[in-house]
Amino acid sequence: MRASFLLIVLTFLYLGNLFVVARYRPWRSPAAELVDDGLVLAGALHMHTRYSDGSGDTQSLARAASKAGLDFIVITDHNTHAGYDEAGYYGDVLVLVGEERTTDAGHMLVIGARVEGGRDPGTVARLTAQGGGIAAIAHPYGRRSWEGPVPEDVRAYEVVNADNEWRDESPLTLLSSLAALPVLRDAPWNRMIARDDRAWATFDSLSILRTLVPLASVDAHAAIEIGFGKLLPFPGYESLFRGIRTHVSLASPRTGDFETDRALLLAALQEGRVHLAYDGLGETTGFRFAATPDSTGLTLSVPFAKEVITRLYRDGALWREVEGGWHGAAPPGLYRAEVYQERTRLIPWIYSGPVRIGESLPRP
Ligand SMILES: [Zn+2]
Ligand SMILES: [Zn+2]
Repeated sequence: MRASFLLIVLTFLYLGNLFVVARYRPWRSPAAELVDDGLVLAGALHMHTRYSDGSGDTQSLARAASKAGLDFIVITDHNTHAGYDEAGYYGDVLVLVGEERTTDAGHMLVIGARVEGGRDPGTVARLTAQGGGIAAIAHPYGRRSWEGPVPEDVRAYEVVNADNEWRDESPLTLLSSLAALPVLRDAPWNRMIARDDRAWATFDSLSILRTLVPLASVDAHAAIEIGFGKLLPFPGYESLFRGIRTHVSLASPRTGDFETDRALLLAALQEGRVHLAYDGLGETTGFRFAATPDSTGLTLSVPFAKEVITRLYRDGALWREVEGGWHGAAPPGLYRAEVYQERTRLIPWIYSGPVRIGESLPRP
């Protein structure tokens, strides 16, 4: 009798928890309105294999990416080039292999180049730029934060790192999210999304003075140490690949040839033709933020017109807040768009890359 009462109470508690978490289920995109020009690739950046502290190998990461619907992934193991020769096409998934270098100032991603250079951050960034690659600051305000100035040759900056999303949650939220995972696939993760204000503030202050590309990283390991040398493959690569993406807009369609497509992808990244998105909140196909052809205004398309708030930033300061999409004249400056879903709170959904209007001079 007492046991069945307890069972009823637990069932109600569990259902109540599901109800709370379910408020963060993904929105279904109005697919008919979306324009997919085939040039935008969805990818995941910054992940670890068995060559450092991850649990999967290149093959299994590519498979997880394919299941999650990604076009590309960038593997970045700690301080090793062991996986470099495994880059290539795995089915339709373009797999790039870079490195996460431990420097004296913090962790730096090296993408698109193979460099030595030890632990000096300036040297690693310079060699990466000289090698045609992209050096990026990893988790600037994470567990291992970036200490000191950002070297001149750094071209990208992680403003989103999955590892930061859950570490600031209370144990109760984590437990309730974990309990809901078997039933709700994406909602428990969506619930933890928050804007990293410090990372964005630093990004904005730097990007006024130099070309800097914002990146969203999954920092996936699929490995939690549970003692006795055992690893729990959690959170899985695939769930992270569905949730946090860097979308890259190519200059021309991909060809299927690895070297050609790798160059197209790196060029688009270098030029900042990206948007970062929590696709677990709803697919972001059709998102577009660009200068008008005469470069006197901006045009912004978002997948949903309703229950979406867009904040437009100019030179790092909030310039305009609009509902859904927008187009209009814009004075010279460096612009970014941040799109939020209106749920129980405003949840960040899409961050555009920077778009420059006119020849706005760097501020002193
Ligand atoms: Zn790191
Ligand atoms: Zn990492």
